[in-house]
Amino acid sequence: MLAKLVSHIEYRPEISERIFGDLVDFFKEHAGFRNEDISKLIRNSESLARRYSHFIINLDIFQDFKRRKIPKKYSGKVIIVDRLAFYVPYHYDPENYGIYFRVSEVLKDFIEIASIFYEIVQVPRFIRALGDESEALALRLLRLRRNIISFVNSLFVEFIVFFYAHLIAHHVFEDIGYILEQMRKGRYSLLKSKEEEAFCYYTAFNALSRYMLGVLQRSKKAERLINIFFPILQNFSWDSIISINFATTKILYIYYVANNRIEPPIVKESLYERFNILFNVLWKFHYTYEEDIGPPNVRPIIQRIFLTLI
Ligand SMILES: [Zn+2]
Repeated sequence: MLAKLVSHIEYRPEISERIFGDLVDFFKEHAGFRNEDISKLIRNSESLARRYSHFIINLDIFQDFKRRKIPKKYSGKVIIVDRLAFYVPYHYDPENYGIYFRVSEVLKDFIEIASIFYEIVQVPRFIRALGDESEALALRLLRLRRNIISFVNSLFVEFIVFFYAHLIAHHVFEDIGYILEQMRKGRYSLLKSKEEEAFCYYTAFNALSRYMLGVLQRSKKAERLINIFFPILQNFSWDSIISINFATTKILYIYYVANNRIEPPIVKESLYERFNILFNVLWKFHYTYEEDIGPPNVRPIIQRIFLTLI
C-alpha cells in the first residue's frame, strides 16, 4: 500500500548536518554540566522568594495539574502545563488567567544551556558555524566569550523571549477559539494539544530568529520581561547585552528539539493553512503591537505575566 504523503512545514536552523551532529553529541556529552561561575551569577529561587515575593504567585491548581497527563486538547477545563511555565486560559479562570513562569524550571534549563553553550564558544569551528560563517557574527560570540556576565545576560534575554513567544502563541490560539465561539463557528480549542505545542514552538523559533541585531534589547517587550525576571540575574545591565539570536536559536533547537525535550516545531501543511491567516493577524496584535482582542472583562496578557515557585 502506498503511504499517504502529508506535507509539513518545519523550522530548521541553518547549519550544516555535520556540525549539527557534532553539537548534538557535544550536548549529550555535557548533559547536566554546570559552570560554577555562571551559577553564581544567578540567584536561587529561595533567596528570590524572600526578597522579591511581589512577583511570585503560587496557585493551588498548579500542583494538581502538574500531576495530570497532558490532555488531548487544551480547553476551558484545563490549564497548560508547559516545560517552563503554566498558562491559565481565561476560559478556565478569568480572574487568575495569565502566564506563570516556573522559576526553578527556568533556572535549571538556563544554567545547563548557558554552561554548555559557554563551552561551545571555546571551540573555533563551532563559533564559525553558529555565526553563519560571518566574521562579524563570530566576533559577537568572541566578545561574549571574554565577558561571562555579558554572555549570561545576553543569552537570558533571548531565552526568555523565546518561551514568552511560545506562550503568547498559546494565548493566540485561545483567542482564535474565543472569536469562533462568538461567531458560533467552533470552540476553544480546535487543535490537538500536541499540534498546538508544535505550532507554538514553530512560531517561537521563527520569532526569535527573525529579530534584526540590536532590536530585541531596545524593545518594550524585553524590558518588561526582564523587569519581572531582573532579580534572578545578579549583575544585569542593558548595556551588557549583545544580540546573538542567530546562535541562540540553533543552541535552543539542539538542546530542546534534537534531544526530544519539547514537541518538534513541525506543523502539517493542512493545519497551517487552516489557521495561518487568523493566527498571523492575532499574533501581530499580541506580539508586535501588544493589543488584546479577548473578552472585555479580561485584562491584557502583558499585565498578566508572573513567576511561580511550583
Ligand atoms: Zn506550550
